[in-house]
Amino acid sequence: MTKKISVPRGTADILPADIPLWNHIEKQSRQCIEQYGYREIRTPIFEDSALFKRSLGQTSDVVNKQLLELAGDKKDGFALRPEGTAAVVRSYIENNLDRQEQLSKLYYIGSMFRGERPQKGRLREFHQIGVEAIGPKTSYPLLDAEMITLSVELLKRIGLTGFQLKINTLGTPEDKQKLSDVLRSQLEPYKTELCEDCQARMDRNVFRVLDCKNRGCKEIVSKLTFQDEYLSEESQDYYKQVKEGLDLLGISYEESPCLVRGLDYYTHTVFEISNPALGAQDALGAGGRYNKLVAQLGGSDEVHACGFALGMERLILSLEDQDLNFESSVDALILTFSDEALTKGFEVVHQLRKSGIKADLNFKTGSMKSQMRLANKVGAKNVLIIGDDELVKNAAAVKNMETGEQEEIKFESLVKFFGG
Ligand code: AMP
Repeated sequence: MTKKISVPRGTADILPADIPLWNHIEKQSRQCIEQYGYREIRTPIFEDSALFKRSLGQTSDVVNKQLLELAGDKKDGFALRPEGTAAVVRSYIENNLDRQEQLSKLYYIGSMFRGERPQKGRLREFHQIGVEAIGPKTSYPLLDAEMITLSVELLKRIGLTGFQLKINTLGTPEDKQKLSDVLRSQLEPYKTELCEDCQARMDRNVFRVLDCKNRGCKEIVSKLTFQDEYLSEESQDYYKQVKEGLDLLGISYEESPCLVRGLDYYTHTVFEISNPALGAQDALGAGGRYNKLVAQLGGSDEVHACGFALGMERLILSLEDQDLNFESSVDALILTFSDEALTKGFEVVHQLRKSGIKADLNFKTGSMKSQMRLANKVGAKNVLIIGDDELVKNAAAVKNMETGEQEEIKFESLVKFFGG
């Protein structure tokens, strides 16, 4: 037999049975995000590699180990996007959106690609829902609070409970520099006990040590004792206002000084939402303010931004255990028992569909028993039986599959009967 070809490692088919849950998440997310005034943006699935190298930093794991570059003849070529923010900012700058609106409120839903070691909740192709607010001089603490609130409300809207929100501030770039000095000096005594990666991170970007998943490194990190001494008065005041905004809206959060987000471009507010029930890969999403990114990608340094991204696969994993019921079955399944009846059924199903009724036709004119088995299997709400008797009467026998009741409805009255 010819050898079968499998789905690439770290990717997955989303089968029809799973689609209702995916659609539910997308629909509720869109509705919720748009209620907050955001509009959708779609950018290409691949970009110049340089975009990610410059935005995420050459030392980040995403660029260093996980960037999936496309083989081509260009030396520094293209890469599949590992995240959405860089592309949205590139598009914002390229299309001069700053000249068109004071604050661009943008969102996207789509696949991202990272050359990870696959495991549960960690894939090479995964999907994110991302939201970004970008505009000149738009560092408003209440915008950060609104962004965090949106992420929480969105999760509630899709039916998720039991998640945790952690927040922190990194302050201004100068404060961040002070924090990195504090971290470096506190980690110095443990340097040789850190993993090899973290020893290198101490010199290049010490913040990434705090994100390390290695157990030994985590233990060392848990011993660190730093408060907000690195924060300027301006940053403290900014953070206070973010928290007041969240308090005002009744959003519960935990302050977490060790939450730093590894990327260079973050300033001020950072946040992360996790679901402890997910185990090792428990981060549902994360975000924060990234005032440095627009300038880093060639835009004006006056343009500030904040945003977040949620991982859809982890939302799916979190929702799978919750008993959500999605109606996706057909309103009417037409069963026929002769070629002549099948032709009539073919016409009837077209009329029903044209009137907005979800209807289907079984093309196989088998026995009543086998066709009813099919109707049960697909969860049809009603079956329309067209046999020789019905053809003579110009009617279908409509059986409600829930109550078992059956009545005869003239072909011309079917659309009305189904409320079309
Ligand atoms: P990040 O851009 O790394 O902050 O990721 C934001 C969210 O995307 C994470 O919290 C995860 O929910 C999700 N995510 C990131 N990487 C992956 C991956 N390799 N597989 C599945 N989900 C991911």
